Amino acid sequence: MSRAKTVSVENFRARVEELSGENVFACYQCGMCSAGCPLTDQMDRLPSQVIRDLQQDDITLLESNAMWVCASCLACEVRCPKGVDLAKLMEALRQLHLRKELDHVSIDEMSPQEIAKLPQIALVASFRKKTG
Ligand code: SF4
Ligand code: SF4
Repeated sequence: MSRAKTVSVENFRARVEELSGENVFACYQCGMCSAGCPLTDQMDRLPSQVIRDLQQDDITLLESNAMWVCASCLACEVRCPKGVDLAKLMEALRQLHLRKELDHVSIDEMSPQEIAKLPQIALVASFRKKTG
């Protein structure tokens, strides 16, 4: 089944910084956060890649699973020589994702065969439930 396209978020990086209170340009990409994160094997982007992508205003971050996997354990913040709190950035990304109500299922991208085959109740439920 097709996934929904990511919608645009105006001033993406600025909004993440506002929500988190963090300055993404404090990061100089040393990688210490990724080296200490206990959950990188479950993430499709490393914590240091998340903040690099934020520096580049990369909206595709909202399609990454890293924000959902992050357990806010703060191991990265403790190791970061610049005191960047990645857990706050991850939380800001989750907030933005949920506020935009990005669905994992888009009816516009489904074939008529898929629509006919799927139970309607499951289809409707999936529009809003699968947000993580
Ligand atoms: S707070 Fe999140 S990103 Fe940082 S080390 Fe813990 S799980 Fe990894
Ligand atoms: S440890 Fe801090 S400075 Fe180093 S890559 Fe991670 S966030 Fe950036």
